[in-house]
Amino acid sequence: MTRKKGDCGPKHQEHACAILQSRSLPDSSAIVRGMRVEIPAQLVERLAAAERVVALTGAGVSAESGVPTFREAQTGLWAQYRAEELATPEAFQRQPKLVWDWYEWRRTLVAKAAPNPGHFALSELEQLVPEFSLLTQNVDGLHQRAGSQRVIELHGSIFDTLCFDEGTQVLTWSDDGSVPPRCPRCAGWLRPGVVWFGEPLPEAALASASRAAAECQLLLSIGTSSLVHPAARLPYDAKAAGALIVEINPTETALSKHADYVLRGPAGEMLPQLLRLLRKAKAAR
Ligand SMILES: [Zn+2]
Repeated sequence: MTRKKGDCGPKHQEHACAILQSRSLPDSSAIVRGMRVEIPAQLVERLAAAERVVALTGAGVSAESGVPTFREAQTGLWAQYRAEELATPEAFQRQPKLVWDWYEWRRTLVAKAAPNPGHFALSELEQLVPEFSLLTQNVDGLHQRAGSQRVIELHGSIFDTLCFDEGTQVLTWSDDGSVPPRCPRCAGWLRPGVVWFGEPLPEAALASASRAAAECQLLLSIGTSSLVHPAARLPYDAKAAGALIVEINPTETALSKHADYVLRGPAGEMLPQLLRLLRKAKAAR
């Protein structure tokens, strides 16, 4: 753990100042202007030595790309609806066109966003770690657009389409003007492939995520409030199985006091910095 105050050297000028804390610090929520994160050498060494690494990402990583949250996207005519009217199976059964149009709107917002340096650093990390699992709670596909190959989408994808009745993924359908479009197999409604409120997570994705968390040596929890279950449980499972837990988040979360290291800053700044140090450490091994 290193804290430096006001001595931003030229080597680090490109980084915004932030603060790094380990769990030994009492004031784990403090963000002090003029301080910068020094990523501990021990953390870099552990990452360089790890064969199995998991990264769990949440809304903060998307927010850094300007993807509006569910609430933030509720502008204009959408502002009048409660979340339960737009993102539950019951809402879809009541007003399928409204719900479909809501997701069309959100797809246009996501299409305007681009992956940020945090997304790109994670796609590079995949190349550097023998077994790397990227688990995301985001539905915007930005990890894939940044080049990540193996992404486990715990809450589905806004760009996937499922048959509402059959639950199966549908890739093509006839564009006969029906909104929502109809399933080419059963003629039922098609729905967005995201996990709605009250729905369970996709079984296969959750099973893969749980296995990866239980088997990893190091877990990075990035830009997630660590409150939404069952994804929030994964770092605890990893820790119970002996993994080193590293949190990257600009503000304190429920996980912070349980993490072995906390890099208190945005993913778009912390991850590229960590990657640079990792490359150096790997080259020296
Ligand atoms: Zn169908």
